[in-house]
Amino acid sequence: MCGIIGYKGTSDAKKVIISGLKALEYRGYDSSGIAYSTNGKYKIVKMQGKVSNLENKLSTDTEISNIGIGHTRWATHGKPNEVNAHPHKIGKTTLVHNGIIENYVELKNRLKEIYTFKSETDTEVACALIDYYANKSNNKLEALKKAQTMINGSYAFVIIFDDEPETIYAMRKNSPLIVAQKDNNFYVASDIAAILSYTNKYYLLDQGDIIKIDDKISFY
Ligand code: GLU
Repeated sequence: MCGIIGYKGTSDAKKVIISGLKALEYRGYDSSGIAYSTNGKYKIVKMQGKVSNLENKLSTDTEISNIGIGHTRWATHGKPNEVNAHPHKIGKTTLVHNGIIENYVELKNRLKEIYTFKSETDTEVACALIDYYANKSNNKLEALKKAQTMINGSYAFVIIFDDEPETIYAMRKNSPLIVAQKDNNFYVASDIAAILSYTNKYYLLDQGDIIKIDDKISFY
């Protein structure tokens, strides 16, 4: 299980997320990636190896982004390469994940009737499952709750949807996640180290909690 940071606020999300990922490097990882939005459209950039490789790749993009999610991966399912690195995107759903989906083979066998998988990861299967339910209901919370009942294993997910580009969702089971607010800046992370340079006040999500970050944090 490795590192996660999501951010929405008044600073450049790319910078906040890269600094958060660097603060999580001590945990060890094999690749990193980020999804960030400029003007409501998300870009995904992933790299094998050091977070500084990712940072270099991002440095050519000078547009300011105020929302995004980032990840350092420690591969459990699939090789440590760029395709398997997070974030994963299927349909309108993009997410990062810490943990292991124990029933991913069974879920994948069902979902491959509908989705084409690009990676070898358990994570992409969870992404497809959430996308499947997000397409069945306009209510993302209902979709996430439904996905929770289907997924066995451990997860901390931070999720964005193309049709709600200004909102971050997160949920966890058997893998930690914290959420924090400082003024108009919102942070969600797997470890306090990722956000300590901004705030030391945070809330540790309970098992099964779902949160929604828009212009406030809502807990479900
Ligand atoms: N099981 C996932 C993967 O192999 C997540 C690994 C992690 O927690 O970094 O991609």
